[in-house]
Formats: sequence, C-alpha cells, structure tokens
Amino acid sequence: MNRVSMRLPAWRRVLALLLLLAAGGALAQSVPIVVERLDRDLPDAAAAQLVAGAWDADFVAEPYAAITPSPRHGRWYRIYLAEDWRSSRPPVLAIADPHGLALRAYLPPDYAPVERSLYERDDATGFTRHALVFMLPALLSAQAPIYLHVAPERAVPRAITVTDVTQARIADLVRARLDVLFPAIQLATVLVMLSFVLALRERVYVYFVAGVLLLVLYECYAFGIGYELWPLKLLAPLGARAAWLSASLAGLMLIEFSRHFLELPRGATRLDRVLAALRWPLLAWAVCAALPALSPGWWIEVALALTLLLMAPLLIGAGLLAWLRGGRSGGYYLGAWVPGLLFVIVRTLQLLLHWPLPAWLEFALPAAFAFASLVLSFGLADSTLSIRYERDVANRLADHDALTGVLNRRAILARLRAAFLHARAARAPLALLFLDLDHFKRINDSYGHRAGDQCLRAVIAPIAGELRLGDALGRYGGEEFLVVLPGADAPNAQLIAERIRHRVERMPLLVSGTRISLTVSIGVAALDAEVATPEMLVERADAALYRSKANGRNVVTMHSGRAAV
Ligand code: GH3
Ligand code: MG
Ligand code: MG
Repeated sequence: MNRVSMRLPAWRRVLALLLLLAAGGALAQSVPIVVERLDRDLPDAAAAQLVAGAWDADFVAEPYAAITPSPRHGRWYRIYLAEDWRSSRPPVLAIADPHGLALRAYLPPDYAPVERSLYERDDATGFTRHALVFMLPALLSAQAPIYLHVAPERAVPRAITVTDVTQARIADLVRARLDVLFPAIQLATVLVMLSFVLALRERVYVYFVAGVLLLVLYECYAFGIGYELWPLKLLAPLGARAAWLSASLAGLMLIEFSRHFLELPRGATRLDRVLAALRWPLLAWAVCAALPALSPGWWIEVALALTLLLMAPLLIGAGLLAWLRGGRSGGYYLGAWVPGLLFVIVRTLQLLLHWPLPAWLEFALPAAFAFASLVLSFGLADSTLSIRYERDVANRLADHDALTGVLNRRAILARLRAAFLHARAARAPLALLFLDLDHFKRINDSYGHRAGDQCLRAVIAPIAGELRLGDALGRYGGEEFLVVLPGADAPNAQLIAERIRHRVERMPLLVSGTRISLTVSIGVAALDAEVATPEMLVERADAALYRSKANGRNVVTMHSGRAAV
C-alpha cells in the first residue's frame, strides 16, 4: 500500500475513517474489500485497455473503503473482494451519499459500461436513492475487479459497501420507512396548521406552513425520492440544485417565521435587521440554483452553506433572547429548533469541510425538523389559546362590575333589552326586580366605606342563590341591583323577590367582629300589554321600589299596572 499518495491530512483521514465506520456499520455489514485509485483521467477510448488491466500497476491502495472524487478531473477506482464470494445470494455494491456523483461502472463478467447518477437513474435494482447500487454476479471471485470512473465532483469521500443482497434490502427497507416517516409527520402538522391559517389569517401561520412544506421538499430531494416522484421530478434536470433551491427558500421562510413568532421587529430591532438582511442572499442563492446559467453549482452550495452557518446561530440567539425576556414563544422556539439548527450547523460543516456524510446525520436532520414542526405547532396553538384567554378576560372586564363581579349597568340593561325582545316575540312572560339596600348610608357612616363594600359583595350570594339559569343579575348603580327573570310571571317574580328579601335579612354578616343587620327593599314589575319598552319596565320596578321604601323598608312591592303608579 502506498500511503504517501494520500493527500488528505492525517486528522481528516482519522475523522473520515470514524465517520465512514458510522456510515457503513449502521445499516448493513460490508464484507472486506480492497479499494485502489488511479489519480488521473484517461480518454474514453482508453477505457477498454484500462478494464483489460493495462494500468493495473499504476493503481494505489486507499486506506479505507470509499471513493473521493477530484473537483478538477475524473478518477478511476479499482475495487475487489478480499476473498471470493461464498454466499449463494449475490452481492451488491453500494456507494453512499450519491448527490453530485456521476459514475460509470465496468462490472464482471462482461465489463460493459453502466452509467449511474442520482438524477437520471434508470436501473431496476429497486433500492431507495440513498446510494448508487450495482448488482454483482453471485460467483464473484477476489480476482475479478470492478472498475469505476468517477466524474469531477466535490472531494467528499463516499463510503463503498459490498453486502449480501438480502442484507442490503433489509437495511434499505429501514431507510425507506424513515424516508416516509419524517416528511409524513411534518405534513400532518402542516394540515393542522392550515386550519389555523384559514381561521385566523395570521401571517405567522402562513410562514410556518410554507417553511415546513419547503423543508419537506428539501428532504425529498436530499433522500432522492424527489427525483422519481411526480411532480417533484420535474426539477430533476436541475440535479442537486433542486435541493439547494428548496433549502434556500426554506431558510427564507424560517427567518420570516422566526421574526414574527418571536416578535423580533418589536423586541430585538438590531437582530431583526440582521436576519431581515439575510433574506436577500438566500433569495439570490435560490435564483442562482434555479437558473444554472448564472453560476457554477459548487459555488451555490458553498454560498448557501455559509449563509446557513451564519443564520443558525442567529436564530438560536433570537430564541434565547425572546426566552430570557420571559416570552413563552421563546421557550417553545428554543425547545423546537435547537436540535434542528445544531444539525444544520453540523451538516453545513460536513459540506464545507468535505467530511463524509454519516447515515445518522442523513436522518438526524429530517428527524429534528419533524420534531421542530411538532413542538412549534403546539407553540402556535398555545399562543392562539393565550390570545383567546386575554380576549375573554378583556370581555369579562368590559361586562362586569369590578367590586361585586356581577354584570355592570350597561351589560344588565343589554340583557334586559334582549330578554324583552325575546319575550315579546315568543309571547313569554318576563319580570324585573329592582333592589335597593336599606339605610346603606348609615352602614357606611357607622362602619366605614370598606365595610360598606363588604356588604355590597356579601349581598350577591343570597340574591344569586334564588336565580335560575338564564336569569341575570347586575349592579344598576351604588347599592342598587337589577334582576332580569325571563319566563317569570308576576306571582312567580313576587315569590322570588320575597325569598331574596328573606335570605338577605337572615344572612349572618360580620364586619370586623360586629354583626351587621342588612335588609333590602324590592320593587317588582312584570311584562304586560301596557309595557312598550324595556325602559318602562325599569321605571315600573323603580316606582314599586319607592313604595317599598315608603312602606317601611325590608318589603317587596308589586307594581300592579297603570293604576298603581
Ligand atoms: P335607603 O334605605 O332610602 O335606600 O337609604 P340609603 O342610605 O341606602 O340610600 P341612599 O341612596 O341615600 O344612599 C346610598 C348610599 O350608598 C350612598 C353611598 O355612600 C353608598 N354607596 C353607593 N355606592 C357605594 C359603594 O360602591 N360602596 C360603598 N361602601 N357605599 C356606596
Ligand atoms: Mg339607593
Ligand atoms: Mg339604599
């Protein structure tokens, strides 16, 4: 073995070896193989001589089972088994991380050239597109080499494995399940969020849905399924650019989502401006990816990787900032995105530094994205719920009296109007009670204003205790209350009023150790043909109340029609 020809520095060789072990060992156990490299290209016409063995002496052994393309020229590889193949099932040769690879293989026994690439693969092997796969003959001897021509490409090492076809299929089935699992989880959250988009029409949900869809699109191209599924395969002529295009746009949407979800334009103006500025390069890389005439492919990949490498820590920082300022959305954001953004950093470093792609990273990224979209959809639902809660609290404050908690004057009169219209339309009975606490001024004067407030609160329970569902109690002003009784006729209402009066009278009321006796006078009015408006019903109940006061207080008086006034 001639190790001097290895151009990789020692630390990268060690790292690559570790990663390759992780990549190959994780899914299917490879048999021992020997990989040799010829570090120059040959004219096509010379291929037949090369395959016949004319350059065999010039090949040098590689230290590990991988091919590493050269960005400047084509390379030849010669691969053979360390021992003859013994299993009755044929072996298959798989080359991992096929993005950007264009291979021409010369396989035993006939050594006819076979072209393979991820983007225009037309083979009948039936494997997923996580690797370029070649079927080998069952009687493969260690003396029969495989020759591979590798077109110029990024110098990322790609693991080579030779396995039993059954083992290879079992391992591939795991990949096929994962290919579907993660996008399916993300699409499910998108479906749920679509209902939020339609119901709330808030931009943050639109960015979320668009961002997750673009991530799924990216995953489809990264997994290779995008190149065989209609309509995604319409972008197959773009090759790896289809993945960069969807990744750039996904990054763009992720920035927009984060800015709105974390309310950065309000909370962190400077960080927001930096993130907003990052949208432009991402848009530019998307345009360059879509239009091959504008720039070479490797250039977009490097530019995009650098942009994402800048974006990921900024987004983590934005989430941290929002979280430290006490925002629940910041907590959700961090919990959701930190794993995904860390994996984005690892993946971009892998691309920029030409590390081999380990199998765990291939799936860790989509797994982290699926996790993020699940957690974020909880976060979005939570923020929607808290908005609803705040709205309910505001509504309650607008309709209720702050001291006693019953309806305020505006709200009780609105209830009365609604009940009045309904009673008129349905020809149903309706009654109104007007309550006024007796000698309340005296209580205030003797025990203080706070004791008075305490009495106002204490009197609610005995009144409410006599009411049915659908009745309404409100504070009309000072120590005066209205009770709307839909469905109650005059005798019925008088009975209820009498019970309330009695309950208040017997209520034990202690104010700073002293027992206070509190009574209430009540006027009752019931709806009849003479009552034309709700206001008239209030006037009648008030008039009846006046008579109760005149008759000595702690009395219920029924308004008995026009004659009684
Ligand atoms: P009457 O039996 O004739 O109704 O006598 P009264 O003293 O209850 O009648 P009046 O209407 O003259 O006095 C009502 C008093 O209620 C005057 C006011 O000090 C008191 N009051 C009104 N609103 C409040 C309140 O929110 N808290 C307290 N503590 N007192 C209040
Ligand atoms: Mg009064
Ligand atoms: Mg009073």
